[in-house]
Amino acid sequence: MKKRYLVTAALPYANGPLHIGHLAGAYLPADIYVRYLRLMGRDVVFVCGSDEHGAAITVKARKEGTTPQAIVDKYHAILRDTFEKIGISFDIYHRTSAPIHHATSQDFFRKLNNNGEFIEETTEQYYDETAGQFLADRYIVGTCPVCANPEAYGDQCERCGSTLSPTDLIEPKSMLSGSVPVKRPTKHWFLRLDKHEAWLREWINTGKVDGKQLHHPADWKNHVLGQCNSWLDQGLQPRAMTRDLEWGVDVPPEIPGSEGKKLYVWLDAPIGYISATKQWAQDHGKNWELYWKNPDTRLVYFIGKDNIVFHCLIFPAILKAHGDFILPVNVPANQFLNLEGRKLSTSKNWAVWVHEYCAEFAGQEDALRYNMVKRCRSRATASLPGRVFRKPTTTNW
Ligand SMILES: [Zn+2]
Repeated sequence: MKKRYLVTAALPYANGPLHIGHLAGAYLPADIYVRYLRLMGRDVVFVCGSDEHGAAITVKARKEGTTPQAIVDKYHAILRDTFEKIGISFDIYHRTSAPIHHATSQDFFRKLNNNGEFIEETTEQYYDETAGQFLADRYIVGTCPVCANPEAYGDQCERCGSTLSPTDLIEPKSMLSGSVPVKRPTKHWFLRLDKHEAWLREWINTGKVDGKQLHHPADWKNHVLGQCNSWLDQGLQPRAMTRDLEWGVDVPPEIPGSEGKKLYVWLDAPIGYISATKQWAQDHGKNWELYWKNPDTRLVYFIGKDNIVFHCLIFPAILKAHGDFILPVNVPANQFLNLEGRKLSTSKNWAVWVHEYCAEFAGQEDALRYNMVKRCRSRATASLPGRVFRKPTTTNW
């Protein structure tokens, strides 16, 4: 029987085009791996799609004076076309605004809720009194407690890569009005990550769950294991899986108190891999469950390093809490690519855009792919087109 693989590449946010850091970090390594598997005659499905929810989208819509829908429609088309031009051979490039994705995500929430995986808790969240709304983590900026970056977001510092909570920020400010946010009570559903800590620790470090060898940690990258263990060593806390937002997947309406609540984007986005596989199966007369529920399937997530804890701890906890799903056999996360010494960033508009390269150097897509791969394999300075790459870029690996 053919060995079966499901390979996923991180869902890009539909709030900007693709840059070379995305390409080098997740999509190109995944594409090379998948092409190799296909040449070896394996049964492989390669899925991806646009992540169209989350405050990064609404922040962009606000900045551009338009709607979140217009933003995701625009960037989904750009992303899809760019992947095609640069030759990333997805079996499906889906989107999280699709009805099948909303339904799949809501089913997950229901199942976790019925399984008693959530605790409902009223907590104090930042609220902007001028704008009259609760503030998503991304709508709060302040100073990073780790590296003192004055432009850190409420969920993450883009300079040092630390994952943050809004209350970690020093001198927080609302991005909506510039005012100092106040705390107000609101109810949310928290996933009991603490309940999953023990098996996650064993799974990450030995590859075993309930005595079964599911992967070999020696195959995993050291920095991936290191980041997971540093989280585990701090102890996993219950994590809110809902938000007060206007854009996203609704908390299932039959659940009391769900009005105005949306699923946390880090709950719905990885489920996007599943809904993309479902759509692919529907389109091709295949059985999606073979790829997500059969223990013979090898599931591999290609991601950038800022997504490690979500793919190695939080999403596996969600899959195990659901009960029917397999876990990844590897999560090859890459370090960041720098451009002139600074991390590439869509939100800070610091990048070389792949669609611009494709437009300017039509027919030379493989030259970029080759150079990115060479660059990722060694620190050698490859000769890249001077007009696109003014200075040699540096890589961390
Ligand atoms: Zn920082």
